[in-house]
Amino acid sequence: GTPYLEVEDLKVHFKTEDGIVKAVDGVSFSVERGKTLGIVGESGSGKSVTSLTLLGLHNMRATTVTGRASVGGTDVVAAPHSTVQKMRGKDMAMIFQDPLTALHPYYSIGRQIVEAYRIHHKVSKEVALKRAVEMLDRVGIPEPQRRVKQYPHEFSGGMRQRAMIAMALVNDPDLIIADEPTTALDVTVQAQILDLLGDLQKEFNSAIIMITHDLGVITQIADDVLVMYGGRAVEKGTVEQVLRKPHHPYTWGLLNSVPSLHGDASEDLKPIPGNPPSLLNVPSGCAFHPRCAHAMLGGDGPCAKIRPELEVVQGLKNHTVACHLSEAVRATISDEVIEKV
Ligand code: SF4
Ligand code: MG
Repeated sequence: GTPYLEVEDLKVHFKTEDGIVKAVDGVSFSVERGKTLGIVGESGSGKSVTSLTLLGLHNMRATTVTGRASVGGTDVVAAPHSTVQKMRGKDMAMIFQDPLTALHPYYSIGRQIVEAYRIHHKVSKEVALKRAVEMLDRVGIPEPQRRVKQYPHEFSGGMRQRAMIAMALVNDPDLIIADEPTTALDVTVQAQILDLLGDLQKEFNSAIIMITHDLGVITQIADDVLVMYGGRAVEKGTVEQVLRKPHHPYTWGLLNSVPSLHGDASEDLKPIPGNPPSLLNVPSGCAFHPRCAHAMLGGDGPCAKIRPELEVVQGLKNHTVACHLSEAVRATISDEVIEKV
């Protein structure tokens, strides 16, 4: 069917005293109901700005947003701010890394879920409280009748994360954007929260965007993956395609540097040398060229001169990569990288 979310050539540029920050610079992707898209990249890759923009949570005054982002048929780039505000919570909701960004410390968990529910439903406080208790129960919080009256500080980190998920899902949104939702949690709790999201997705048939720097999370929960670097998409495809047959040198670097995919062989870990680019001054040509071991820079070498466009890999229309290396060279190196992971 038609994807619930369709993003086309999205650009998000901020004006600052030092110049224009191109936080997102021409990114396209889509997510169907019941599917999860993982967006992966280092900090400063533009992955979080992308999601804040979809929710209309960016700084309106200093930011220029162009392109199209259709959420259930409404283009949230073109729509008035008031329309996007009304959609927030009901059509799309966000789960943050730190529940304390979303949960107010001075109000009980119940009161906050009640208020979130009553923004979109004309019901009494009693009816909303019943819904809050149901939601806490649904996300696996024991004794929800008692816990609903407690404050965020009375919850453990994992329980707070569950409470935030309950609040985000109370209005049954069709699109859930989760930004590093399990980064602060230990591995066991992380796995439980990812399982919970997967279960809730099956139940509510929601589209999920999972933003993470952790490829382990992607393999656990995502169907498709978008790899971002310097505000751009560098590789896109199904998880199977991108993680089993990666075609971009940056994706190779990510795979080589992820402990969770290496098991015990942590001596094989190779972090990507150098740092992500400043989005105020993205390198010319391929933004990754200063860090790329395969960059073609001398003579007619295109890597510092021409920005590579996304191209289809091996005739598979849903696997695309933006790199000047020939497909044959990429395929050979990809095999070598995967052998070691
Ligand atoms: Fe490396 Fe060049 Fe490919 Fe960029 S275009 S990833 S610099 S080989
Ligand atoms: Mg809905």
